[in-house]
Amino acid sequence: MGEINLAGHSPATIKQILTASGGQCRCCHTEVNVRPGGASDHRVHTVSEDDLRAGRDVPALICAACATAMAEGGFTSVVDFVFSTRPACPVCSAHRASQIGYGLPTRDSFVNMPPWQHSGGCCVGPEQWRCRGCGHER
Ligand SMILES: [Zn+2]
Ligand SMILES: [Zn+2]
Repeated sequence: MGEINLAGHSPATIKQILTASGGQCRCCHTEVNVRPGGASDHRVHTVSEDDLRAGRDVPALICAACATAMAEGGFTSVVDFVFSTRPACPVCSAHRASQIGYGLPTRDSFVNMPPWQHSGGCCVGPEQWRCRGCGHER
């Protein structure tokens, strides 16, 4: 698994995103057939450097089902799309819940962690979600 925080829209970048994805949809983790000449049942989502740095969007391999759901929902950002599928915050009602993962994160998981995931550290707590709007954990 390589570096997946790649900005840009060039064919070389798209190839790198494909390789780094490990053949898994970044939204739902479904296996995707990415062999050259294979069925085009996937989409490679590219982002600008500005959007990536601001956390507005991330590059991703997206399966056909997620690509369709994203288009139907009118989403242009993978980050917005994934957050929209998460439960709303009971405090501020924002759809900005990051899933908390416990355990010591590796450097790789820090670099590649999308905004919809949050590292809760190595002490496992009962909280599953952290709101990025107000910081509420539940
Ligand atoms: Zn998917
Ligand atoms: Zn909130």
